[in-house]
Amino acid sequence: MKSSCLFVALAALGVIAAAHATTPVLVIHGGAGVIRRDMTPAREKAVRAAMTKALQDGYAQLKAGKPAIDAVTTAITVLEDDPNFNAGKGSVFTHDGKNEMDAAVMDGDTLRAGSVAGVHRVKNPILLARAVMEHSQHVMLVGDGAEAFAKEQGIALVDPAYFRTDERWQQLQKALKEDAEKKPHADPDTARHFGTVGAAALDSEGHLAVGTSTGGMTDKRWGRVGDSPIIGAGTYANAQCAVSGTGWGEFYMRTVAAHEICMKVSMLGEPIQRAAAEVINQEIPSMGGNGGAIALDNNGNIAMPFNTDGMFRGWIGADGVAHVAIYDNEPDPSNQPPAPAQSSSAE
Ligand code: ASP
Repeated sequence: MKSSCLFVALAALGVIAAAHATTPVLVIHGGAGVIRRDMTPAREKAVRAAMTKALQDGYAQLKAGKPAIDAVTTAITVLEDDPNFNAGKGSVFTHDGKNEMDAAVMDGDTLRAGSVAGVHRVKNPILLARAVMEHSQHVMLVGDGAEAFAKEQGIALVDPAYFRTDERWQQLQKALKEDAEKKPHADPDTARHFGTVGAAALDSEGHLAVGTSTGGMTDKRWGRVGDSPIIGAGTYANAQCAVSGTGWGEFYMRTVAAHEICMKVSMLGEPIQRAAAEVINQEIPSMGGNGGAIALDNNGNIAMPFNTDGMFRGWIGADGVAHVAIYDNEPDPSNQPPAPAQSSSAE
């Protein structure tokens, strides 16, 4: 009798609810493969400002008690709208001079997922991926069919010219010239798979979600689809782990990279930093690939491994402050010891 009175009193004071609440965390990336000498101070400033806005807008959702998936799509939409990233406006060009975009989302708690590939008129592909998850019976839609679904769902469609930027067009011209001269594609100067965006969030209920959006690789041909929209390869979340990758997609598909990281965490109990580093910095390079990833566990631990010159990355954790890093000499939470597990009950 006494203890139930105490429970009611504590619940009224919000003490019980507070003990159940998880500290929200949001982690984002804007692509691996940053080349130091290509970053003008003006571009660096613009990228940092966009990353900060994406973090703040996404985190506001978490602070308002919204689910992790809201933070993920909010943050990614900001980056898709910014021409500095290879997603939405600013996507890279295909061999035929078009923009063909891929995106995916996954909800860790329910294992529901949605993805789209090869869309060329959807302003924010991440919103369409979310609509596939929430309003269709399918997981993946491609091309014209995906755009017909977008129309039905009232998702914004734009003229394909919206996505074009001169910088991306010049990158395609350079790549086509290299093709003609039969130069290797893996040259870091002309690497073609950088600038994808992604986000992973932990909400106050302790649930994880993740999303990834990309224009893919410059000069891609024949309807090529990369890892980003392939659930398990570039995008995956379960109850303990959420991962969004960025890098040479073919290698992420062959290693099923995002799922591999999460299985190391869920099945083997590995700390997320170790699991992510093993896949991104050992397995993928050993096969000839490169890139990076963001990974988040349900205790709020963050990993951000990459094996390129840099990776646009950012996070907001317990301090509520947006942190952005680009180069490998900038500290990030990957270098910190794992946070202790948060209690999931008041008992
Ligand atoms: N992984 C993406 C792809 O291969 C590209 C990237 O991450 O920049 O399509």
